[in-house]
Amino acid sequence: SAIARYRANNPKSEGQMLAACDVLPAGNTRSVLFHGPFPLYMARGEGCRLWDADGHAYIDALGEFTAGIYGHSEPRIQAAIVGALQGGLNLSSHTEREAKLAREIQRRFPSLELLRFTNSGTEANLMALAAATAHTGRRKVLVFDGAYHGGVLAFGGGGSPVNVPHDWVVARYNDLQDVKARVAQHGSELAAILVEPMLGAGGCIPAEPAFLQRLRALADECGALLVLDEVMTSRLSFGGRQGQLGIRPDLTTLGKYFGGGLSFGCFGGREDVMERFDPRRPGALGHAGTFNNNVLTMAAGLAGLTEVLSAEALEALNTRGQRLRTSLNAVFAAHRVGLQFTGLGSVMQLQPLAGPLRSADDLKAADDRIKALLFFELVERGIFLARRGLVALSLPFGDAEAAAFVSALDGAVAKCRDLLP
Ligand code: PMP
Repeated sequence: SAIARYRANNPKSEGQMLAACDVLPAGNTRSVLFHGPFPLYMARGEGCRLWDADGHAYIDALGEFTAGIYGHSEPRIQAAIVGALQGGLNLSSHTEREAKLAREIQRRFPSLELLRFTNSGTEANLMALAAATAHTGRRKVLVFDGAYHGGVLAFGGGGSPVNVPHDWVVARYNDLQDVKARVAQHGSELAAILVEPMLGAGGCIPAEPAFLQRLRALADECGALLVLDEVMTSRLSFGGRQGQLGIRPDLTTLGKYFGGGLSFGCFGGREDVMERFDPRRPGALGHAGTFNNNVLTMAAGLAGLTEVLSAEALEALNTRGQRLRTSLNAVFAAHRVGLQFTGLGSVMQLQPLAGPLRSADDLKAADDRIKALLFFELVERGIFLARRGLVALSLPFGDAEAAAFVSALDGAVAKCRDLLP
């Protein structure tokens, strides 16, 4: 079977995993990466290629879950990191680069009238909710079933063991009637409506534009802040999903590629809310963090935005993603199997079932064994994606890589045809 061949082909990965179990539960420190029988141990990356511990080469179709938009060896980002390194790593004070990076982000996302940096998207969401609760004096937060806002803010299948203690109200995604009913019940106590413009980890299910627009209006009606989590969707256009749809949230959270591939998060929005973090004001909210303005992230993020990721480059990447998704879905259609890739632009997700998908409920019938099967078949054919089926293109991922992916999927589906729905 595919798993037996995987095991036979990857003895070094298996050995490294077993050894690592001495110090790390399941040899791992990011739950999302673990899968049975063991994940591949990656040794090296270049452009959009990866090499594993056993020496196999892959096309990197995962791009670090969207954070790796620049690929592994973007020369301008490397130069910026080396330059920053030579100027001293831990400067213990304000630096000019952080204001430059903030300005560059604001140029793309004008709704971030004031913003602050964190070390991760998770922290960005925690701080946005802290700002919303402080600003409104309310404690409840409306979120969506299947949403993922970070390691301690997860509302999907497995969920999180310790969702931070807000009073969560969980609604169905893309279901306006459900949201309205919950707002009718809890509206006066809601500090925020926190929403991903596309469920990311929850399966690359886009919000219908009219649904997001109605959330904007409902938040206004009940006095809650609308917080858009664009940690994943910010890459869909120069101004993110909010720019594409013309929605102005009260607060936005960002992360992933904005740090040039290094640890990063950012939250920001309305001036009257964000001013609360101004330490010159009496009773200001604190927001510290040793590495919030670390020089490597600031330098890499700035170089990426100013020297590499132009509006044109981003649009071309998303067009390439749209085309790849169409081609991959054509493979399923040609083999008459009931599978699909959902998503938007350069981000997509393998779904082991056909038909329209609008909320986490629609994924309940999904058979994870189908995803596993295709994952192992694709890896064997040199395509690296997430075990759960996520694909996120990076700038170096070009036509040749897309063609190789389509051909690998065709081979994998042909081989497993009888096992697929
Ligand atoms: N929000 C969304 C929508 C995400 O996809 C993620 C990470 N996948 C996060 C928040 C958390 O970001 P981080 O992993 O940097 O904490």
